Amino acid sequence: MPKLVFGGTFNPIHYGHLRCAQAVAEREDFDRVVLIPSAQPPHKPDTADVAPAADRLAMCQLAAEGNELFEVCDIEMRRGGPSYTIDTAQELLRQGWETVHWLIGADMLLYLPKWHRPLKLLSEVDFVIMARPGFTIDWSLLPGEFRQLQKHVVEAPLVDISGTDIRHRIRAGEPIDHLVPEAVAQYIGDRRLYRS
Ligand code: ATP
Repeated sequence: MPKLVFGGTFNPIHYGHLRCAQAVAEREDFDRVVLIPSAQPPHKPDTADVAPAADRLAMCQLAAEGNELFEVCDIEMRRGGPSYTIDTAQELLRQGWETVHWLIGADMLLYLPKWHRPLKLLSEVDFVIMARPGFTIDWSLLPGEFRQLQKHVVEAPLVDISGTDIRHRIRAGEPIDHLVPEAVAQYIGDRRLYRS
């Protein structure tokens, strides 16, 4: 059974990512979800509050530990430089993947035409779009070529958690234990991430 790739900044990885990816994998019959944290997210400004790539990778590994569904791949870390999805997808295809199924949240959809080599990306990657309850996709805002993705929308539960909110909570000294796996909360505390 094919694997489902889930790429992101994962700054940090949280239950929103994990629960939604799990729901989509179960619904679409994927056996495995491959988390690919980006080395250098191309769409985030340099000034954004992004933890070092090695820490974000380590947190993904902790989140996946002991969970049969998730695995972590460091392909973007090993390549370095801006983490363009098209480069990662092509590398996976060269490694022998038959199809690259790539999960994105519906909120990312409108940015897709701005990703690196968007049309090549559309032809090489099989996108799976997670609908977010309460988030309506306005397909008229997307260029024509991207509207075929309407057939690839899958329902996901509403898990109202974002990395941005978690980072704000840490700075405010509020607990995050209910938002991330225990080992991830521990790692953030030990490394004093997102404090300043
Ligand atoms: P930030 O708040 O820092 O922008 P984020 O939590 O939205 O971060 P990213 O790592 O940038 O996370 O997102 C990776 C992918 O996960 C994106 O495709 C995004 O749409 C999706 N995603 C993020 N949070 C959720 C959530 N709560 N439910 C479902 N999908 C999510």
